[in-house]
Amino acid sequence: MEDSYCHVQRKWQNVARELRRNQVEIIENPLLAHYTTWKVGGKALAIIKPANLSQLVRCLRLLNEEELSWRVIGNGSNILPRDQGFNGVIIKLDGEFTGIKRSASSFVECGGGVLLKQLINFSIRESLTGSEFLVGIPGTVGGAIINNAGCFGREVAELLDSLVIVNRDGEVLKVNREEVDFGYRYCSLQGKAIIAGVVLNLSPGEREAIKDRIRTYFLKRKETQPIEFPSAGSVFKNPRNGYAALLIEKHGLKGLRLGWAQISRKHANFVVNLGGATASQIRYLIEWVQKEIYLRENLFLEREVELWD
Ligand SMILES: Cc1cc2nc3c(=O)[nH]c(=O)nc-3n(C[C@H](O)[C@H](O)[C@H](O)COP(=O)(O)OP(=O)(O)OC[C@H]3O[C@@H](n4cnc5c(N)ncnc54)[C@H](O)[C@@H]3O)c2cc1C
Repeated sequence: MEDSYCHVQRKWQNVARELRRNQVEIIENPLLAHYTTWKVGGKALAIIKPANLSQLVRCLRLLNEEELSWRVIGNGSNILPRDQGFNGVIIKLDGEFTGIKRSASSFVECGGGVLLKQLINFSIRESLTGSEFLVGIPGTVGGAIINNAGCFGREVAELLDSLVIVNRDGEVLKVNREEVDFGYRYCSLQGKAIIAGVVLNLSPGEREAIKDRIRTYFLKRKETQPIEFPSAGSVFKNPRNGYAALLIEKHGLKGLRLGWAQISRKHANFVVNLGGATASQIRYLIEWVQKEIYLRENLFLEREVELWD
């Protein structure tokens, strides 16, 4: 009988042939460590880079027909893959999905693959205010919306006007903000749809004041976060009425190290890669913290980062 590796390879070759015919860019056997901000993770079957909606729909239909596992990646800043990699296909939005433009008044149309950094630079150029608090979050617009990324008491959903999504069956839908539920690092579309594009509602502002706010937010981040090391930001969600970092510190876990992975000495809710950490070392530290805090506080720290199994 054909083993599962050969079976998946054969299905993938069928999909790849069709994708090439449709001019979709393919990277075969990519090392996920090159696509995550933690710089860890083994190989995937392939990364495919649809450049527009019709290519994206085609990709989904082909992958579903062949029953291949697939996932979407943004900038890989909130995920922990396995050292063994992922025996499936990763979709990374490219081409038109990385475009950004101003539409009516202070509305901004962004592809799901636009980096938050690009959005902020665009807002400065166009003298639009509202997105400054996102400075220093190394994600894409799609990844930020699906996690409802936030900081300094604000969340990205506050800026949202409408979305274009593609559901897992490959149907394209236009959705208004009110049709989606958002919460603390939660969006009701998680696992159900790809964010192809969004319209954000910013406000006219004064360019120098916008730049000043960005600088202030960035300096606060630099003071408190170990941005000099690869990480995925905060590992755990804050519990109700408290801070995960303070609990981790209170129980003496700050600085705990396994190989080249360490619970940051600067911010205890970050696990940093000191250089050469493996995904399993990071995973072990995460699970260790969860176990210790549960035993000592009778509280389960929920992960903010996503483990890719
Ligand atoms: C130094 C540092 C600081 C950080 N600070 C913050 C912070 O202050 N606040 C905060 O909230 N987060 C923070 N993060 C975490 C992370 O940057 C955010 O969660 C970010 O929004 C993830 O975006 P991404 O594009 O990298 O998503 P990825 O990590 O690539 O993916 C995360 C999830 O989103 C899904 N996804 C990605 N793109 C799409 C899409 N287009 N459509 C549907 N699903 C998609 C993926 O499948 C995956 O499930 C920080 C990370 C780092 C490294």
